[in-house]
Amino acid sequence: MPKGGNVVTDTAGYDCDVLISADFVLASAPPEAGVSGHHVIEDAALAVSAGRVGTVGRRGELANLRAKRRLELGRSLVLPGLVNAHTHIAMTFLRGWADDLPLAEWLTQHIFVKERQLTAEIVELGALIGCAELIRTGCTAFADMYLFEDAVAAAADRAGLRCLLGEAIFAFATPASVSAEQAMDRVRGLAERFTGHSRLRVAVMPHSVYTTDDAILRSCLRLADELGLPLHLHVAETAREAEDCRRAHGKGPVAYCRDLGLLRPTTTLIHCVVPDEEELDMIAASGAHVAHNPRSNMKLASGVAPVPAMLRRGILPGLGTDGAASNNALNMFAEMNACALLHKGHSRDPTLCPAATVLDMATTGSAAALCWPELGRIFPGGPADLVALDLRSPNLLPLYSPFSHLAYAASGFEVRLSMADGRILYEDGAFTTLDIPQLCDEAEKLKQWVLKTV
Ligand SMILES: [Zn+2]
Repeated sequence: MPKGGNVVTDTAGYDCDVLISADFVLASAPPEAGVSGHHVIEDAALAVSAGRVGTVGRRGELANLRAKRRLELGRSLVLPGLVNAHTHIAMTFLRGWADDLPLAEWLTQHIFVKERQLTAEIVELGALIGCAELIRTGCTAFADMYLFEDAVAAAADRAGLRCLLGEAIFAFATPASVSAEQAMDRVRGLAERFTGHSRLRVAVMPHSVYTTDDAILRSCLRLADELGLPLHLHVAETAREAEDCRRAHGKGPVAYCRDLGLLRPTTTLIHCVVPDEEELDMIAASGAHVAHNPRSNMKLASGVAPVPAMLRRGILPGLGTDGAASNNALNMFAEMNACALLHKGHSRDPTLCPAATVLDMATTGSAAALCWPELGRIFPGGPADLVALDLRSPNLLPLYSPFSHLAYAASGFEVRLSMADGRILYEDGAFTTLDIPQLCDEAEKLKQWVLKTV
């Protein structure tokens, strides 16, 4: 399928692989148009061939296309696959293990003790469960930071999802790497392995300012430049972190990143709960991205990121779930809902973070944070990453605005179709790439591992 999406009849006489029709499709302009929003096409259809979207239009206009398969979805809403701008997908093994605790106690006594003994096998099992949840709840791409990221790559590849892979880089030894240098070698290995892969890409992901140092962050920047990779790191997650940074470096964590040269259009700052006004200006001026994780920030009582102030400066944050230990869902619908409600309640202003903006955050905003701007939008010639929501679900009746339902009424479990790279990953109750009964058995194995690891 050529760019531009014109239908080309193949040698077998078909015009497309799949012709999807539905009552509503949310379509967008291509990324080069510079528009982040979506528009509704009613009584719509779209053609998919070789992993790309072809023509998008009214059902009648596409009716005569010869398709290998016709998917008549009827009372459904087709939207771009949601994009999770930040997670630690493998952490499903700690879902519900330790809740309602102070951050330091939670991290040191309940999370780190398990992670110290991590293996690639545990990471892959945890990641497979996480991938299943993403597929089930309409997410087709995610940015991931964790240890043994090659095991996450294996899980994402098996699941059929798109992933921006980031081996976490720390100043100290981890079960995956004895040093930051070794972690960076793992990044190099991943980058070599996945160059040209259609669904897996690699980023440089130093964990944070407070778990690395100047020299490591400079090395990460050099590595990102050398390999042409995006860079993601946790920044300004808590007031404590900002205070410590001011004490150590005489400036807040965002300013510290700016002075190191880290703020640029290929960098994503994860969390940004406590930047000051000046730091927000720095982010806006630099073109750096933000990954907002409202549920994790609420659960860990980190605070409320100044998203309305970001939006006023022209920063459209991406939306992420963070890991299942601090959320505890990997469900982008839950995240959209939390985002749409949190900023209204917190600011006592019901006009903030309107539904359509929150959808933009979970699609085009997150795609920008992954430095993968063609994701999160349905347009002719774009990637065939899309999901369909069953509008017959009672909680979605009646329907005035698809945007409203996506942000406020849908749970994510109305998703009836998930497709990434033109391949169907989930359809009406059936996963096509993952064996759910087997994952249930493996979840039990993970639980036993957690219980016996002290
Ligand atoms: Zn995180």
